[in-house]
Amino acid sequence: AEWCLSMPKIELHAHLNGSIRDSTVLELTKALGERGVINFSDVEHVILKYNRSLTEVFKLFDLIHILTTDHNTVTRITREVVEDFAAENVVYLELRTTPKRNNSIGMSKRSYVEAVVKGLKSVTSVDVDFIPPSEDSKSLFNPLPPSVTHDKCNGHVRKKIFVRLLLSIDRRETTEAAMETVKLALEMRQFGVVGIDLSGNPITGEWTTYLPALKFAREQGLYVTLHCGEVPNSKEIHNMLDFHPQRIGHACFFEDEHWRKLKSSKIPVEICLTSNVRTMTVRSIDVHHFVDLYNAKHPLVLCTDDSGVFSTCLSKEYKIAADSFGLGRREMFELSRKAVEYIFADNKVKDDLRKIFNSMAKNME
Ligand code: IMP
Repeated sequence: AEWCLSMPKIELHAHLNGSIRDSTVLELTKALGERGVINFSDVEHVILKYNRSLTEVFKLFDLIHILTTDHNTVTRITREVVEDFAAENVVYLELRTTPKRNNSIGMSKRSYVEAVVKGLKSVTSVDVDFIPPSEDSKSLFNPLPPSVTHDKCNGHVRKKIFVRLLLSIDRRETTEAAMETVKLALEMRQFGVVGIDLSGNPITGEWTTYLPALKFAREQGLYVTLHCGEVPNSKEIHNMLDFHPQRIGHACFFEDEHWRKLKSSKIPVEICLTSNVRTMTVRSIDVHHFVDLYNAKHPLVLCTDDSGVFSTCLSKEYKIAADSFGLGRREMFELSRKAVEYIFADNKVKDDLRKIFNSMAKNME
């Protein structure tokens, strides 16, 4: 439907390497196949498979990482992902990625994130606002003029997208590695890093391993979002809610006690419909907890998770929600607009976004 494409949207849960274009994955796979690094026919079926369990998804990520983890490719996919979100009228994108070290190609966690930032700078199809306004960042890079939403340029209306970064801690990592990521996030604040995410295979690792790094992140003023309840793990869900992160993702395997705690906490939930159904963490769309949270007016935001891996996009997620839960255009617009309040960027960005939604609201009448 046209309306979900043209409506301004906010994406708060998108993993960089999960948002990679299909065409790019295939191109990279073929190239590595030709160089004999991988056997194309061995991996073809993994890439082209449609429904994947959570376990298979993590196998796929290991493969994607082999394809993408060099500086130039990281830069390229960052550019493509931002362009793709902007093309469907995402006006604010919080992109998350796990900084990776790979000594054999001289990659450190820091140089990985620098490659991401380079990707943000290399976008040409839209204006990207990713550097929070501060004096020293202005002298380091040449940020875009503090532009209005739509710059008139040669008679064309230029699109603009705000992008902020979250650095992910992978559940496979040690406390020290997690701490390194948080320190890096602090150093990279001037380039738009606003927070920390905890993700990775939910059946691995222990909450207590990441806790010191997450606490440190919070003390230093970084925002925190946690993948929570992707598998049944009652104790961990309680621990995560008690930590009181600024947002959580998924909340699939919650029990009554968890729902009670969540609802009284008012912690916003990042909802990824297609991802949950595809990975079978939710039985089917009609029993998705979106309905209960929406009816309870609990803060929530629709997100893609891994638009490449799950062959979706944010407009599609809005369409699916509208169709599955009987919501109209106006209700979907309000849902999108409310997400402004849950972003991790500063008040200036929130104000700019509120203005965008206010001006669009007039068209909704
Ligand atoms: P990257 O951080 O840019 O490499 O994006 C891919 C990574 O995001 C994966 O390796 C996982 O660590 C994480 N990720 C993506 N989707 C999910 C999910 O559904 N649950 C948990 N972690 C995820």
